[in-house]
Amino acid sequence: MTQKALAEAVGISRQTMNAIEQGEFNPTIRLCRAICRVLGKSLDDLFGAEDKDNGENGGMIMYCASCRMVFDEDTRCPVCGSKKVREAMPDDICFLTEAAPIPGGMLKDILDQNDISVLASSSIGAAMAMRAGTMFERIRYYVRFDDLEKAKEIAADLSL
Ligand SMILES: [Zn+2]
Repeated sequence: MTQKALAEAVGISRQTMNAIEQGEFNPTIRLCRAICRVLGKSLDDLFGAEDKDNGENGGMIMYCASCRMVFDEDTRCPVCGSKKVREAMPDDICFLTEAAPIPGGMLKDILDQNDISVLASSSIGAAMAMRAGTMFERIRYYVRFDDLEKAKEIAADLSL
């Protein structure tokens, strides 16, 4: 089937069809369905399935930079509700877990041994920790998105 014939069959211009093929124009769902109907293909055959191997659910892993949280494909952050989310990148710093200083220190040691660089930040200020005693201090640990999966397994082994 020629581009022109297909364009005519679904009621769009040949230029539009060309732009869709070049990836310069995202067709509407309605148009996608029309094209599929004409070609006798499913939506997945034509438009989906490209990144089926990325992640278990086939969806993107998204990242909220203000919370440093990753979550499954969604248009807003489940923690702060921000819509300023984007696809997670390997170098994004992601929240791993929060722990008291002692198990947290063990976690950090094991991560270090696995060549996973970890950032730690106290969830209460240093002055507050001094007043309340370090036993109440909680440390938040962050790792690169690339290392998150492995780091989570290590944290789970320590029941963190
Ligand atoms: Zn957020």
